[in-house]
Amino acid sequence: MSHDLVVRNGTVVTPDQGTLRADVAADDGVVSAIARPNSLTGDRVVDATGNHVLPGAIDPHTHHGIYRGLEADAESESRSDLVGGVTTIGNYFRRPGAYADIMDGYFAEAEANYYHDYFFSLGLLSFEHVEEIPYIVNELGITSFKWYMNYKYAAADKFGVDCDMLDDFGDAFVRTLAAQDVPTTLGYHSENVEITNALAGGNVYVTSESGDAEVDADEGYEVMVEEFPGYAETQSMVAGAALAKCHDYDENFYAVHISSGRTADELAALRAAGYRLWGETCPHYLTLTTEECDERMKVNPPVRGGDDQETLWKRLADGTIDCIGTDHCANLTETKLGDGIRDSALGFPSSSTMLPLILSEGVNAGRLSLERAVEVTSTNAAKAWNLYPKKGAIRVGSDADLVVVDLDDTRTVTPELLQGAADYSIYEGREMTGWPTHTIVRGRVAFEDGEIVGEPGDGTHLDRPI
Ligand SMILES: [Zn+2]
Repeated sequence: MSHDLVVRNGTVVTPDQGTLRADVAADDGVVSAIARPNSLTGDRVVDATGNHVLPGAIDPHTHHGIYRGLEADAESESRSDLVGGVTTIGNYFRRPGAYADIMDGYFAEAEANYYHDYFFSLGLLSFEHVEEIPYIVNELGITSFKWYMNYKYAAADKFGVDCDMLDDFGDAFVRTLAAQDVPTTLGYHSENVEITNALAGGNVYVTSESGDAEVDADEGYEVMVEEFPGYAETQSMVAGAALAKCHDYDENFYAVHISSGRTADELAALRAAGYRLWGETCPHYLTLTTEECDERMKVNPPVRGGDDQETLWKRLADGTIDCIGTDHCANLTETKLGDGIRDSALGFPSSSTMLPLILSEGVNAGRLSLERAVEVTSTNAAKAWNLYPKKGAIRVGSDADLVVVDLDDTRTVTPELLQGAADYSIYEGREMTGWPTHTIVRGRVAFEDGEIVGEPGDGTHLDRPI
């Protein structure tokens, strides 16, 4: 028989069977066979000879829609994702008001525009939001959430909600999640704002707009690192994890964007003490240091020093840190850069460079095995966010989200190469070795030979539980 698609004679990396040379067939969007090399025939054949075939990368941490609206971001950023082998993203969304009233419109904006599949994680900002959890989980197919410790005391001002997001709010949040019948995930932004606010002397960084801060032209990136020290992240992560553990919810607790080596070390210590937790770091914490950063790299938490970077790589390799997420924001130079570090906006685009960076500076640099790279860029995210084994695996019955990579292909990053909305990349000029030749979304080739051939609207919302 002829299959819809055959990816022929590549070295297939699977979390179940290990690494083997094989043909992979897809029919009706799912993997239908994994067979001896050069044994399958297809209506469409992708020759992967000499290359590796990985499950499509999953970026579980994006912020589409913050700067330009969801319609625009979904289209441009998921297009760019295909260049970098990303076939699923998780997007954080938060808004005051009842999600029951908001989400129909939001789903509609997504549906017409994504090139690949997506799921949402909702930020809860009030006790009213906590009360909506059963509705969100049972009616909207959204089973993941975010608790922003950085908005403690700030939520009433920032969002106009009647809530300071103190620990009693967090306690209700975690207890309600723990009481649901379906598996849920809580993304947790670790930050002790009583410490960071005091160190920052009232200066506000938590903004997605530039142009509203006092300017001191002499200040460089290092002031952010001084005002957001690693220990304020570490202490907050441990406190949040302990609360989750008290409600038997530690298995579903996911520490986002770990920037400090010490936080990763404490995550390891908690695991050794019997906690089951998920931990995520971002590519920028692995591949940049404070000295290399300027306003373009402004992000919260900030990029730290070489020791932190070294520890994060070690903790990624040894199994402590499970996932890579990017904290992707689609802003343009115009909206990103203000007059100095304080005046610039938070976040930068980075989903499409996630997999190439991990292949280049992880696998090709000898820090990670290829199998571990697949776990941290795909399989573990699928497990943490309740998408496995539909996503994150190459096995019969899984969605045929595949990326064929040439581990020897070296490219220099430019915004044009990445084909997203942004007119800059924090990695501009950097050489990375290990790029996709083909990105396949549910059995259809969506990117090949540098060209996007998928269509906006090809992606669908991933209703959970799967
Ligand atoms: Zn984020």
